[in-house]
Amino acid sequence: MKIGFIGLGIMGKPMAKNLLKAGHGLVVYDIVAAPVEELVKAGAKAGTSPKDVAGQCEVLITMLPNSPEVKEVVLGKNGVIEGAKPGLIVVDMSSIAPLASQEMAAELAKKGVEMLDAPVSGGEPKAIDATLAVMVGGKPEVFEKVKPVLLKMGASAVLCGGIGSGNVTKLANQIIVALNIAAMSEALVLAAKAGVDPGKVFDAIKGGLAGSAVLNAKAPMVCKGNFKPGFRMELHIKDLQNALDTAHAIGVPVPLTGTVMEIMQALKVDGKQKDDHCGVIQFYEKLAGQVVRSDL
Ligand code: NAD
Repeated sequence: MKIGFIGLGIMGKPMAKNLLKAGHGLVVYDIVAAPVEELVKAGAKAGTSPKDVAGQCEVLITMLPNSPEVKEVVLGKNGVIEGAKPGLIVVDMSSIAPLASQEMAAELAKKGVEMLDAPVSGGEPKAIDATLAVMVGGKPEVFEKVKPVLLKMGASAVLCGGIGSGNVTKLANQIIVALNIAAMSEALVLAAKAGVDPGKVFDAIKGGLAGSAVLNAKAPMVCKGNFKPGFRMELHIKDLQNALDTAHAIGVPVPLTGTVMEIMQALKVDGKQKDDHCGVIQFYEKLAGQVVRSDL
């Protein structure tokens, strides 16, 4: 199956490489030249625009920052919609507002083009290992056609409901991850200031009820003071903004999400928005005057 791939950043580049490894013909596009050249060296063909890519594939995947970029690529000038032939399936794997997915799907449907929203969880390591968790919204028959492709990039692909459901699921995921990071930060700063090695705390509790994938991934990073992304805090701010907007539009108060959003906003003012999202601990470290470090 010939696949188009637009957006070759931290996530998109390894995901596209996994499709190549699986033997798919690939046409790629990004506004930055370096990752395109890297993919071409690995065997992909370079497209000249989203329109050009759309004309050359049966399935077109986008992995872009947020709703405005996806809308521009899909519906804008020289966009996917201009090059798409009827029958094309657009799979947006970016994390965006559910309403934006629904709006784009409606526009594409007028041209006989199907769309799934299929954001992922797992971050760069799981993008490289092809073990992402993929959460999908759209028609069941379209999902079944694309599922084998999704499973070349992920360990699981679950259809959550109609178009937009993948991104609603991702918002739920991002609320849980953000609140976990904040809880871990609060707890490890407390432990460190109480004179207990935070690495020992992690070791002791990781197998108990407080253990989590977030704790396993992020506690070793914060204990080393390693805030290299991974998942940039500015992307998590984007996700929490989408969560707040979506929640408020349907009458769901999300008080803890609002609090963690303000913590991230404070860190952004401090110039830390490019740090990994586990950099949230720096807010607590500043409040308590206590840095969290351990040899682990
Ligand atoms: P990134 O910023 O590293 O990559 C985005 C890519 O899109 C860049 O290469 C950029 O040049 C390209 N791009 C931007 N505008 C474009 C345009 N108009 N046309 C073509 N290309 C364009 O971001 P990322 O970390 O790869 O994340 C991508 C999406 O995946 C985001 O929605 C993010 O929230 C989500 N996500 C990221 C992670 C993670 O750990 N990084 C994990 C899960 C989900």
